[in-house]
Amino acid sequence: MNTSTLQRHGHIRDVSPQVRPNTDASVLPKSKEAPEFSGRALDALRQPLESGHVVVARSGGMMRMPARFLLMLAANPCPCGRHALMGEGCECTPVMVRRYQARLSGPLLDRVDLRVHVEAVTRAELTGAHGLAESTASVAARVHGARERAAARLADTPWRLNSEVPGHELRTRWQPCSGALREAERDMERGLLTARGLDRVLRVAWTVADLAGHDRPLASDVAQALQLRTGVRRGVPVGAGER
Ligand SMILES: [Zn+2]
Repeated sequence: MNTSTLQRHGHIRDVSPQVRPNTDASVLPKSKEAPEFSGRALDALRQPLESGHVVVARSGGMMRMPARFLLMLAANPCPCGRHALMGEGCECTPVMVRRYQARLSGPLLDRVDLRVHVEAVTRAELTGAHGLAESTASVAARVHGARERAAARLADTPWRLNSEVPGHELRTRWQPCSGALREAERDMERGLLTARGLDRVLRVAWTVADLAGHDRPLASDVAQALQLRTGVRRGVPVGAGER
């Protein structure tokens, strides 16, 4: 979609020849060292992450442009990056570490669905002595199957992926198994999960269920979504959320 197409759809003015929407779906913004960006720049990502568009304001008017993307952020545990190695060689003070980690604000992290702690690569892993656990082809086949299940469920809707379904629709139209949300609701009551966070956990739980071939999320699927979000291992209540 170019600017003139956007104009035909109304309520949008071309205010600068330098400003053009980039609709390349393959774009994957990624940051190797996210906390090195200013907090203001990082927080500017909140709007497009939530709504799938950005609004650019210039003196002549405003332009709304599509900005649906997959964001990957990476961060070291401290400015020098050695804090994870049992503190070996790390001379960062606790204040420096806190300040560095605080650059990724709570509201930004609230929009990050999957958080993975990555250990340093060992020499054996680097030389490939252990081999890969699973081939890319078999993972791709599993992802393809999950996408087909989601597409079939969403066939009569404007959405194709679980990540596109609005929170309200997600909560009212497609229900997980009975009791499956108990742990997530407990997290909400304890202030560990926001309402937005619950919607995001639900979307990931549907994807986990699609990958596992479940008709709808079980308690174990929601527990896995919570674990992926927080990095904290979750127990699954016995008998909860059975089909
Ligand atoms: Zn350090």
